[in-house]
Amino acid sequence: MNKHTIVDYLRNPNDPVLFKQADAVRRKFCGNAVFIRGLVEFSNHCCRNCLYCGLRGNNRVLRRYRLSPDAIVAAGRTIVKRGIRTVVLQSGDDFFYTRPMLCSIIKRIKSLHPDTAVTLSVGERRLDDYRAFRDAGADRYLLKHETINPRLYTAVHPGHRLSRRLRILETLRKLGYQVGVGIIVGLPGQTLDDLAEDIMFMRDWMPGMAGIGPFIPQQHTPFRDHVPGDCATVLRVLALTRIMTKTVLLPVTTALSSIAPGEGLPCALKAGANVIMVNFTPREKRRQYAIYDNKAAVGFKKACTVIRQVRRVISLERGDAFSAEGK
Ligand code: SAM
Repeated sequence: MNKHTIVDYLRNPNDPVLFKQADAVRRKFCGNAVFIRGLVEFSNHCCRNCLYCGLRGNNRVLRRYRLSPDAIVAAGRTIVKRGIRTVVLQSGDDFFYTRPMLCSIIKRIKSLHPDTAVTLSVGERRLDDYRAFRDAGADRYLLKHETINPRLYTAVHPGHRLSRRLRILETLRKLGYQVGVGIIVGLPGQTLDDLAEDIMFMRDWMPGMAGIGPFIPQQHTPFRDHVPGDCATVLRVLALTRIMTKTVLLPVTTALSSIAPGEGLPCALKAGANVIMVNFTPREKRRQYAIYDNKAAVGFKKACTVIRQVRRVISLERGDAFSAEGK
């Protein structure tokens, strides 16, 4: 598919045909498993000022929290006890957690069970940090590129450049991480051409994972009055990404479940997705991880029910990236 065809699919959708094709590609190249990951949002402090994100440093209204290393490991233990073999640690870009602190947390979680994978999603750090985290046992790193349009990237991340984000992604891959990229669909100023470029980037770069979710406004950000991304477009981007990458791990993002609480999860699973993130952040902190308004929290039971409903297989295994390029 060239850019023109992709934009056509995004603009003049024939969704049943597109989704059916994506589902067939998913079945052929990835099988029927839906991998469950356990997510711990361990800090909502952030030094960045992304215009769309409620965690941005300039948001003075948000009540901030940090979990102690022991509390993070305890959440990891709950995940492992459930039998889930991937622990995802996410936070704002928060340098309170030093390199030795994060290395120790990674090692402690890895020691909970010999087959546990640790995914980090802690933003932009020094190169030496990424190397140390990898040496400590981290397996995967999720750093969404957000948009592949450099002008849009800088417009929504004032003072930051896409080229740096992409250099970090290359570094992570060289260090041996399974790397996750991803985009926000419906960012103010984004066009269908931009989305087509994003899909082609994911096809060419071949990440291990790709997080694709809608933009959702957050009341204490400069983007508070913008319209959210729409569910149908997210599903089309998911399906096209599945068709063009074949093997990439595609989570149903929490953002999609938030804008489409009923149908988002099953529809995404039928349009190419094969991963669900279940939230294990301590209950009393979840509301404070307010990246956007009315954020859903997908629970373990709900995830299992939906996976069964769409006649797929629940997998708690590590679910490593399929492709060699994804590593
Ligand atoms: N700080 C890390 C980073 O930048 O990769 C991880 C935490 S960050 C809060 C996780 C993701 O939240 C971002 O990659 C972004 O795509 C998403 N996000 C933040 N605000 C959002 C919004 N208003 N709508 C949709 N997604 C949003």
